Amino acid sequence: MTSIPCPICAAPAVLRDPSHPGYLESERHAIYSCSGCLTAFTEPRADRPEVYDRIYALADEIPGYHRYHQYARLVERANDPLAALSASEDVYWAIEQSLGDSMRDDRRILEIGSGLGYMTCALARRGHSVTGIDISAAAVAAARARFGDHFERADLAEYAERHAATYDVVIACELIEHLIDPVPFVQRALSLLRPGGRLVLTTPNRSLYDGSVLWETELPPVHFWWFSEAGIAALAARCRATVRFIDFTPYQRVQPLYLPPLPSDAPTRSSNLTAALAPTEGARAARQRGRLGTAIPWIRTNRLVQRLRGKRRVAGPRRTVMCAILEPFAGGADGRR
Ligand SMILES: [Zn+2]
Repeated sequence: MTSIPCPICAAPAVLRDPSHPGYLESERHAIYSCSGCLTAFTEPRADRPEVYDRIYALADEIPGYHRYHQYARLVERANDPLAALSASEDVYWAIEQSLGDSMRDDRRILEIGSGLGYMTCALARRGHSVTGIDISAAAVAAARARFGDHFERADLAEYAERHAATYDVVIACELIEHLIDPVPFVQRALSLLRPGGRLVLTTPNRSLYDGSVLWETELPPVHFWWFSEAGIAALAARCRATVRFIDFTPYQRVQPLYLPPLPSDAPTRSSNLTAALAPTEGARAARQRGRLGTAIPWIRTNRLVQRLRGKRRVAGPRRTVMCAILEPFAGGADGRR
């Protein structure tokens, strides 16, 4: 059995599929699964900007990306954009939770990979001092035109040199799974924190599924990684940081998640679940009424419909996404490898 050291925790990672279908129909990718931290990843990993160019060009049509444009429009018109995002999708709810008591203060926040800019804007509207950085000049120009002067085109390595120990909170939302090497990324992101600061990472959660499931997230080369919680914990430890995970139990009650039953005899199953995360009728109804609790009658009806479709309801602390909060060890994170 072919194995290589896990790039995150160094335990042996086993080649589970040498020729897995990729995001582009013509491509195949090798999928490894770590025997130690259970993170799945593809190898080799190489930057493919042309894939993103195609996704952004078609973003209003591709399932799973279309909703980002809806969120940008939502933030433009909502009175409390962060609350509106939070009611729409678990990722944003988790980010709101991760800010904890710092919500009450004017904090310095950096969003890495600000993209369309709506999350940066939503945080700024809560009174925080927020900067969004992105490597795409086009994304930064569009975000500035739409949401104001919060954005800067920057590469993280260079930005971290200029802004060491500056921020109370650094956020990277659905980003690390796209990176060739997440280790230097997390080290640099931690180096941006002031004493007492926190790094908030969201990424698809492999730990929601059992070990037989090979790859249940965007296909390579869009996502290179499908992290488990143990993988994120190993990543944090390597970067000299503690980690804790947001518990989604309260969110499950108001915004239930249903997944198709997984065939137990199909260890190489692969599909794209992002469509299942698109805002549901329940979320839309809740948003119109201004709070989550009012969606309950709709949720009861939906539960019956989903059961009839053979889907299973997810319960407990995990969703398809995780939100990890990293805090540097008492002696400080080492910004270099
Ligand atoms: Zn590992």
